[in-house]
Amino acid sequence: MIHKYKLAGLNILLDVNSGGVHIIDDLTYDLLDNVEPPFDEKCPAGVVAKLSKTYDAGDIEECYAEIVELYNDKILFSEDDYEKYALTSVASPIKSMCLHVSHDCNLRCEYCFASTGDFGGGRMLMDLETGKKAIDFLMKMSANRETLELDFFGGEPLMNFDVVRQIVAYAREEEKKYNKKIRFTITTNGMLLTEDKMDFINEEMSNVVLSIDGRKEVNDRMRRRVDGSGSYDRIIENYKKFVPLRGDKDYYVRGTYTKYNLDFSNDVIHLFEQGFEQISVEPVMADPKMPYAISDGDLPKIFREYEILSEKITKIREEGKFINFFHFMLDLDQGPCAIKRLKGCGCGNEYVAVAPDGDIYPCHQFVGIEKFRMGNVNDGSFDYGIKEEFSKAHVYTKPECVKCWAKFYCSGGCNANNYLYAGDIHNSYKLACEIQKKRLECAIMMKAVQMMDTAE
Ligand code: SF4
Ligand code: SF4
Ligand code: SF4
Repeated sequence: MIHKYKLAGLNILLDVNSGGVHIIDDLTYDLLDNVEPPFDEKCPAGVVAKLSKTYDAGDIEECYAEIVELYNDKILFSEDDYEKYALTSVASPIKSMCLHVSHDCNLRCEYCFASTGDFGGGRMLMDLETGKKAIDFLMKMSANRETLELDFFGGEPLMNFDVVRQIVAYAREEEKKYNKKIRFTITTNGMLLTEDKMDFINEEMSNVVLSIDGRKEVNDRMRRRVDGSGSYDRIIENYKKFVPLRGDKDYYVRGTYTKYNLDFSNDVIHLFEQGFEQISVEPVMADPKMPYAISDGDLPKIFREYEILSEKITKIREEGKFINFFHFMLDLDQGPCAIKRLKGCGCGNEYVAVAPDGDIYPCHQFVGIEKFRMGNVNDGSFDYGIKEEFSKAHVYTKPECVKCWAKFYCSGGCNANNYLYAGDIHNSYKLACEIQKKRLECAIMMKAVQMMDTAE
């Protein structure tokens, strides 16, 4: 399978199964619209006749011969080497956990997927005993896996920070016993960041996710406090203080764009201008009836905006400055390992979320949906059937993904969005797919240009 497209004045060709990216001329581009394996010895006469209105017949024959050579060398239309991994890989140890220490929040964001923090189940905080049981569960279920990940999540986890501290202390003891290492992260809305919390987070957390949507007016329209006022002024001040204190430890500022700010490249640049280099701004996924929800009609504007963003980021880099936009990150050289390429986030199989009452779900977005409740860390129950179902949710069991050129980068999309907006974890959510594919096209283009520049 190949995918080709035009962007930034380039003809770009991706050989899907090998991951090879090529910049091609107009003739090759047009010829590939007309030929595919199995190839004849010579270019079919009908194709030569059709294209010779634009190109020289001899050049067409020559180009055809080159395409056949690349095919024979397994560079174009290469075979799929990954399917065998999908068939053999099923159960995995659980290596990552999202720990919902707080189903309460001090903000009332309009687009909140968690019902402004309580996930529809009432406001509550996790107690220490449940947190310890969750660590015990992770130690047991990770089997012989040594490196583990745990994200403190909410609602707003800083509303239960004493318990966070105590869980970290407990986990540090347990990891010694089991000869494991937990990499902690925390996701916060920034409202309660104080110097002592920053110090603790910098000491213990490998990564922090700092929520902010971008420009003040954009952020404050959606991310409001309980009294209806905006959160921007407080959080920008806290983040500006906090990020330099991280030193070389990871962080990123993460925002959401909605129908109200389809010019979101301005939000990315705004965040950059505030001094942040690691930035993620993602589309809102919401009930289409919501006024802020993105619809199919918004796609042309969104596509153009990603192109504008790629131009702005390229310009910043040409000025010798560093900026990393999460959704343009792409490694064409090594790529993620095969299994990761097939399964993506691994939710429900390698990754679970634990709610404040100890209930276990495939990930944070499934929390509160009874049919996906996998068990409870307090009573030791666990439904291996659900785990198995998720272990089999990969690009080869998702009908749209099998045919999709983006499958090895997208890894089959978000199971939660698939369920919520397309009715089943195996159904692709078309709106998200279109946005994903556009982001990938931009990312591949930027990487290809960078590689061309390096080669010159
Ligand atoms: S900060 Fe997060 S949990 Fe709280 S209301 Fe906003 S989106 Fe929801
Ligand atoms: S873009 Fe959509 S169809 Fe393609 S791999 Fe991702 S989820 Fe599947
Ligand atoms: S299913 Fe979606 S929301 Fe859940 S962990 Fe995977 S990518 Fe994230």
